[in-house]
Amino acid sequence: MQVDYIIVGLGLAGIAFAEELNRKKKTFLVFEDYSQNSSLVAGGMYNPVVLKRFTSVWNAKEQLETAIPFYQNLERIFDKKYQNSVDIYRIFKSIEEQNNWFMASDKPMLEDYMIPKVIKNTNHYINASYGYGKLIKTGRIDVNSLAKDYRQLLINLNQLKEEKFHYKDIIFKDKGIEYHGVKSNRIIFCEGFGLKENPFFNNLPMREAKGELLTIHAPDLKVNYLIKSSVFILPIGNDRYKVGATFNWKDKTKLPTPEGKRELEFKLNSVISCDYTIVDHTAGIRPTVIDRRPLLGMHKKHKQLVILNGLGTRGVMIAPLMAKKLFQYIENGEQLDKEIDIARFEK
Ligand SMILES: Cc1cc2nc3c(=O)[nH]c(=O)nc-3n(C[C@H](O)[C@H](O)[C@H](O)COP(=O)(O)OP(=O)(O)OC[C@H]3O[C@@H](n4cnc5c(N)ncnc54)[C@H](O)[C@@H]3O)c2cc1C
Repeated sequence: MQVDYIIVGLGLAGIAFAEELNRKKKTFLVFEDYSQNSSLVAGGMYNPVVLKRFTSVWNAKEQLETAIPFYQNLERIFDKKYQNSVDIYRIFKSIEEQNNWFMASDKPMLEDYMIPKVIKNTNHYINASYGYGKLIKTGRIDVNSLAKDYRQLLINLNQLKEEKFHYKDIIFKDKGIEYHGVKSNRIIFCEGFGLKENPFFNNLPMREAKGELLTIHAPDLKVNYLIKSSVFILPIGNDRYKVGATFNWKDKTKLPTPEGKRELEFKLNSVISCDYTIVDHTAGIRPTVIDRRPLLGMHKKHKQLVILNGLGTRGVMIAPLMAKKLFQYIENGEQLDKEIDIARFEK
């Protein structure tokens, strides 16, 4: 078997690169061993504003300009809706925060998204005495459904091998590589936190952050926007809400924990006062990088080996643009921006 590319990992990074290859009529084979599940558990929100500081997310405009058509195209392919507009209501904790919101909402880029007024809270189950700042043109991608549909599609097309990729079995050729009888020009590694097992790239400074999420059923809450406070409460339909997320830099497992659940319940109870039941509890590891920028580039010695990783806490927005840039770099020799190129970590 001969393909243009092998892709290792089919989370958001792998899907974005596979789609780029489809568009450019390249052949590929994917390996996926279900060892990581960041993309499967993600809240799936996209939002160009940093809700802690009311600043713009790095490169947000360019990311969204690529991401929205990318998901729309997948909706056409699967004839299914993955994207939903969801406004964000950021609970103010003080008058000072209200003032900071007004100042930020005047800035270029932010003014398109931040409504410059304080929204009064009218839901007596929500604790928001200083009101809300409202963000518009934000939304959610149902990444779990998308990833499952995409995997099934590739299984049907014989383009997905549901098995672990073994790095030591790569045979290097003058041009390209061979792996278990498959010849390929290149391998694109999209393993998320699985990067730690990759001997060719595990020297890169990933500073992974485990995250846990609850799904609750809260029939009295009745909100159709995301509430953001010490936790986010994201409506997903049928009176269900995702509540998240924790950040843990020590635990390297993808298992939900009693501590994570306690933390989320404690924070949730400080925001809402209606009854709810917990119907699900999930966890995953975000592939975050020490400088909060993605990891793209070629291995210094083996140019056949390429990485697409480090999507961090915002894979939904960032993955499609990074896949595009990586393809142009490999196939057309276009320079990668310094801040995303793994060369920035070379001594
Ligand atoms: C709790 C939580 C909430 C989040 N919420 C949001 C959100 O609201 N919005 C947002 O934009 N982002 C969110 N994120 C972040 C987002 O999930 C990540 O940015 C994104 O999923 C990373 O995608 P990835 O493809 O790089 O990694 P992954 O999704 O981890 O995919 C890597 C894939 O590679 C496979 N793999 C690894 N090693 C091997 C191997 N050797 N052989 C074969 N396969 C292998 C794994 O099984 C996995 O499927 C959240 C993350 C978490 C954990």
